[in-house]
Formats: sequence, C-alpha cells, structure tokens
Amino acid sequence: MSFMIEERVAVVTGGSSGIGLETVRLLLAHGAKVAMCGRNHERLETARTELTREFPQAELLTATCDVLDSDSCEAFAAAVSERFGAADMLIANAGQGYVAHLDDTPKEAWLSETNLKLFGVLNPMNAFRRQLAASDIGSLTCVNSLLALQPETHMIATSAARAALLNMTHSLSHELIKEGIRVNSILLGMVESGQWRRRFEQRDDPSQSWEEWIAAIASKRGIPMGRLGYPQEPARALVFLASPMASFTTGAALDVSGGFNRHL
Ligand code: NDP
Repeated sequence: MSFMIEERVAVVTGGSSGIGLETVRLLLAHGAKVAMCGRNHERLETARTELTREFPQAELLTATCDVLDSDSCEAFAAAVSERFGAADMLIANAGQGYVAHLDDTPKEAWLSETNLKLFGVLNPMNAFRRQLAASDIGSLTCVNSLLALQPETHMIATSAARAALLNMTHSLSHELIKEGIRVNSILLGMVESGQWRRRFEQRDDPSQSWEEWIAAIASKRGIPMGRLGYPQEPARALVFLASPMASFTTGAALDVSGGFNRHL
C-alpha cells in the first residue's frame, strides 16, 4: 500500500526513540524526506546511524530541539526549510507521562504536564504553520492518549492534560483547516517503548523478565488483545492520518489501544 508521500517532507518530534523512531522508519520506507528532533544529541545520533544503515539513500535531517522551547522550534523549522524547502506533514509525538496519584502530584507536576501536552504541540505547530499552510497536503497529527477520555487515577495529571490536548486539537482542526491544514490525533493505550523500558528497570521484582512483566501488565489492566502495542502499530496510524490517504479526515481521534477503550 502506498501512503502517497514519496518525496514529501515529514517532521517528527521525538523521533529518536519508541513510537517516533518507528514513525520515522515507516516514513523513510515510503520515500518521504524526514526531519526529526529530540533533546538528547547522542540518542538522535544513535537513531540516525541506525536509520541510515537501513536506508542508505535516506533524506534525513536530525536536530536537537526541545519542543517546550519556542525558539528551538523556530530554529528547527528554519533548518527544515533550508534543507527541504518546506514541511508537508508535522507529527507531534514528543513527550512522556507522569505516573502519580493525587497525593503524590505536586503543583509543579500539574503545571509541567499541562505545559508539555499543550505547548509540546503548540510550539512546533506555530513554528511550522506557515510551511504546512503552503503545502497542498498540509497536516498536523498528534500523539495523544486514551487517558484523554478514560482517565486513570495513577496518572491523574497526565490524564487531565491529555483531555485538554484532545479538546485543543479539535479546535485546532477547525481553525487550521481554513489554511488547508488537517489536524488529527491518535489515542494510545499502552505501547512497548522507551517509557516502558524505563519503568521496567524500576520494577518491584528484578527476577521478572521483560516478557513476563509486560504480560502481567496487559493481564492486570484487562487489555482485550492481551498485550501491549508494538511501536510500529501507532506509527502506521500516524503515517496514515498524516498522509493524503486520509485527505477527507480532520478533527478525528483514532483509537490505537488494543480494545482497551470502555466507551462507545
Ligand atoms: P519514548 O520515551 O520512547 O520516546 C519519546 C521521544 O520524545 C524521544 O525521542 C525523546 O527524546 C522525545 N522527547 C521527549 N520530550 C521531548 C521534548 N520536550 N522535546 C523534544 N523531544 C522530546 O516514548 P514513547 O515512544 O512511548 O512516547 C511517544 C509519545 O507517546 C509520547 O508523547 C508519550 O507520552 C505518548 N504515549 C505513549 C504511551 C506508551 O504506552 N508508550 C501511552 C500514551 C502516550 P529526548 O528524551 O532525547 O528528548
């Protein structure tokens, strides 16, 4: 299947690990030119080495950029413009969650979670807006979480901030379509990736293997598909929504949770 993105320019925030890295890989496999960012230079370089080994002809730009820093996003957008002309697709993926119940969530965490979820999208969107508006296929696609609709008390601040992001992306879809930019998001359940690897390192029972630990989580949480998602799965949903394959879709939130959602 073709996503109709050959020679098109895609930007992925948080492209150096997990879901973002798989998204970059899929975009390159389908002939897109890709720019990706992350905060950690070494992690970006490792990803770049891996990707250029796999795709020797890849048109790939990597940039150190913190999505919470608007100047850094502007510099990233300028680098993309200089190298590729302009971006056609922006995939806002960078971020992480905050695991804590109410009593363990200080005010700073509420503020930083809200800041990350909203400005982690708004800063790159503002920086790339003109480029996306100039494209005939402009799109903004956001990684969001099922927590937006189905909050979990052990991630109370993240859940609330995810709901705010879902609300904001819906408004953005109405505002930005006037400039020809489609705005969609995916709602993730639990996906094996860097975040889960870090939580695994801190597991209560060090004798538990990765497979045992993941299977126990899937069973405890009652995920109907009995497993966590693989990062390739949200990557496919992201590339679909970002691409002209979804040309009549805007304001949508696509569930990628293995059936974990409890609402209609
Ligand atoms: P990873 O930790 O594997 O990857 C996160 C990526 O984002 C890394 O490249 C990281 O690089 C980058 N990043 C984080 N913060 C920033 C920042 N401020 N500016 C720029 N880059 C940043 O996580 P996942 O692949 O699991 O997560 C991807 C997205 O999916 C996140 O937004 C996450 O919250 C969301 N999500 C994931 C779920 C899951 O189960 N995996 C569930 C629900 C949502 P660096 O650290 O070098 O900056």
